[in-house]
Amino acid sequence: MSRIPQHWDMETDVVVVGFGYAGGMTAIAAHDAGARVLILEKMPDPGGISVCSAGGLRVARDAEQAFRYLQATNAGTTPDDVLRRLAQGMTELPDLARELAAVNGAVVGVRDSPGNYPLPGNDTFGFVYIDDLPGFDASKAFPHVKGSPQGARLFKVVLDNVAKRGIPVRTSAPARRLVQDSDGAVIGLIVEIDGKEIAVRARCAVVLACGGFEGDGELQRQFWQAKPVLSAAYRGNTGDGIRMAQAAGAQLWHMWHYHGSYGFKHPDPAYPFAIRMKRLPDWQPGQGLRGDVRMAWIMVDRTGRRFVNEYEPYMQDTGARAMDRFDPATQSYPAIPATLIVDEEGRKLYPLGAPTYNERGLSLGWSRDNQAEVQSGLLGQANSLDELAEQCGLPAAAVTATVDRWNRMCAAGVDDSFGRPPTSMVPIATPPFYFGRLWPVVSNTQGGPVHDSEQRVIDAFGRPIPRLFAAGELGSVFGHLYMSGGNLAECFVGGRTAGRNAAALGK
Ligand SMILES: Cc1cc2nc3c(=O)[nH]c(=O)nc-3n(C[C@H](O)[C@H](O)[C@H](O)COP(=O)(O)OP(=O)(O)OC[C@H]3O[C@@H](n4cnc5c(N)ncnc54)[C@H](O)[C@@H]3O)c2cc1C
Repeated sequence: MSRIPQHWDMETDVVVVGFGYAGGMTAIAAHDAGARVLILEKMPDPGGISVCSAGGLRVARDAEQAFRYLQATNAGTTPDDVLRRLAQGMTELPDLARELAAVNGAVVGVRDSPGNYPLPGNDTFGFVYIDDLPGFDASKAFPHVKGSPQGARLFKVVLDNVAKRGIPVRTSAPARRLVQDSDGAVIGLIVEIDGKEIAVRARCAVVLACGGFEGDGELQRQFWQAKPVLSAAYRGNTGDGIRMAQAAGAQLWHMWHYHGSYGFKHPDPAYPFAIRMKRLPDWQPGQGLRGDVRMAWIMVDRTGRRFVNEYEPYMQDTGARAMDRFDPATQSYPAIPATLIVDEEGRKLYPLGAPTYNERGLSLGWSRDNQAEVQSGLLGQANSLDELAEQCGLPAAAVTATVDRWNRMCAAGVDDSFGRPPTSMVPIATPPFYFGRLWPVVSNTQGGPVHDSEQRVIDAFGRPIPRLFAAGELGSVFGHLYMSGGNLAECFVGGRTAGRNAAALGK
């Protein structure tokens, strides 16, 4: 918290901190509710993680069913009324997406898609994507971004809605501290612009929509068991909103929880991000996997043994979890890094890595047949499993035994160690063999300040902090098992609620 400044350098009704989907949606809603709004964005470009996301917005047909699913996935970590609000909001998202899309003729696609797990209510769900945006070329509009076209299109829709309303956006403007009055109400903030601290008065409220802590090693070390966890895509989110909210008295939740899998580290230490693994389709326990989906690799720990089902139902979300294990006897994490093993047939299947980022000056692709990565040293090559083990510093007998056993299980069509879906099992038998080091990777975090169903930030004793709201992944509702598309749904539903409520407060 900062002392009340002698004078305010700028004034507006609602200050929104951060310009990803959540900040954009908050600003649009606050503006449409009659408020004057200012968006402050720390980085030179808006977009945050949002612009490089896959753009899948989780929607639902029936609010009660959606609530039952969210309740089950959250396992008592989030109050029912907060989840009900998100569930209700999910049913409104297809119409909201169509409304927003009118700004630039974007084509909204709605499709059924059950929740990730066989929990009550799971078949009420679907996704909204922006299927097309005539004349839009993501690589020209966002040359500093590598992600999926759907994420970029959805961000463009939000960006154009902000622009159409004339909402002012200050980039390269990191918010530093909140200002509270003697009653604890948030009445403004201090932002740094061109190296100077500027006091901005918020006549109605401040909404923190400044993401999580993907880019903050210190918060990760303090809250997560696995070390290190590499960031997948974005450096701008360094937990600033968490610290500002804490200083105002906020309670935190879900800090342990992140959306993450395993991926590669670039051999150039200057490359700032991990490289996410190839994304294969999710599958639902009990329903198996589409017959044509092959996973080219297995993964072993330092003992040369497999330690996990490499293809968990929602691998991009939980893939990192098994790497957490710390072995007190050896004082190490046996699976950090783990080793990926692929054979010649597997190498040809598809690109094993998928670089993603929102960062100026970066350019990284991945070759279709993985050969460029073998040449660059991102992947290693060996003529035999013994040679592979030697190059990786793994016990050769254990590696050979693991691969032999794997190939027998492939022939039998059953992974009796970890239950990997049979149709995904591919033998590792044709030399040369390839390997890579795999690390836990955070795509995005869920922890942050607690909020209630009105997106008001809650203090350590359960009371709302007056005139302070949060939206998006900063204090996400997901506290146990994440639901694909859920973060974007939160950005849109929570952002709209926060914006409307902020605007409704007296000036
Ligand atoms: C590759 C990838 C794919 C994904 N795909 C999906 C998907 O399809 N569906 C889904 O639901 N989720 C997906 N996610 C997760 C989802 O993208 C994020 O959770 C969501 O976009 C977060 O939005 P946000 O607005 O809360 O944060 P962000 O988009 O990260 O925006 C926060 C903004 O705040 C700014 N900021 C930070 N600190 C300050 C400060 N002090 N002052 C001012 N500004 C500040 C940041 O620079 C940033 O621009 C994906 C994540 C990744 C990495």
